[in-house]
Amino acid sequence: MRCVVLGGPGAGRGTQSELLCRHLGLLWIATGDILRLAIAAPTSDDPSQAELGQLAQDYVERGELVPDEAMIQFIQLRLQQSDAAHGWILDGYPRTAFQAEELDFLLDDLGQQLNTAIYLEVPDDVQFSRSVARGRMDDQPDAVQRRIELFHTCTRPLLEYYELRDRLIRVNGDQAIDQVQQEILKKLGASQLE
Ligand code: AMP
Repeated sequence: MRCVVLGGPGAGRGTQSELLCRHLGLLWIATGDILRLAIAAPTSDDPSQAELGQLAQDYVERGELVPDEAMIQFIQLRLQQSDAAHGWILDGYPRTAFQAEELDFLLDDLGQQLNTAIYLEVPDDVQFSRSVARGRMDDQPDAVQRRIELFHTCTRPLLEYYELRDRLIRVNGDQAIDQVQQEILKKLGASQLE
């Protein structure tokens, strides 16, 4: 199965993607985690990771989006690695219409298809308080506010993109972790039967 998870900061993308990957035996690719790691470990053995971290640092710290070209190139390389051949969950990618279109082109080239886009719906004030409480490098209040804004302006339009392609599953992310996971599994099961 190939699936993308959409949602603002603090929507629970990481928690739910990890659980789902464990449950379904899929590869979990979280672009935000990869970027934060590349920034925190600039002496990494992998020069492309170090380069990505250097480019991304300023954007990530301010809560801005890393430019599409860099993200698209990163995902192109990542999804062609052998461990990605049997299904994955993309957590935090795509985030713009351009990224979504390019992902479809890439999958076409690879002879693969995206099964589902899961949207974790969580009110802005809950996203804000959850993120600030987490306290990661890009969870400072100003950066969180900006990430919420960018979710609405750049990422929300993807809901329509995937809805038009009959791939969108909406899940109430403002529940206990287990309940959210159950709702995802139930709706995924239902969509596979359609
Ligand atoms: P996340 O942990 O997914 O909320 O991502 C943390 C930060 O990484 C974001 O605020 C962006 O600065 C950057 N980032 C992660 N994924 C993307 C993406 N697909 N496009 C652009 N920037 C991204």
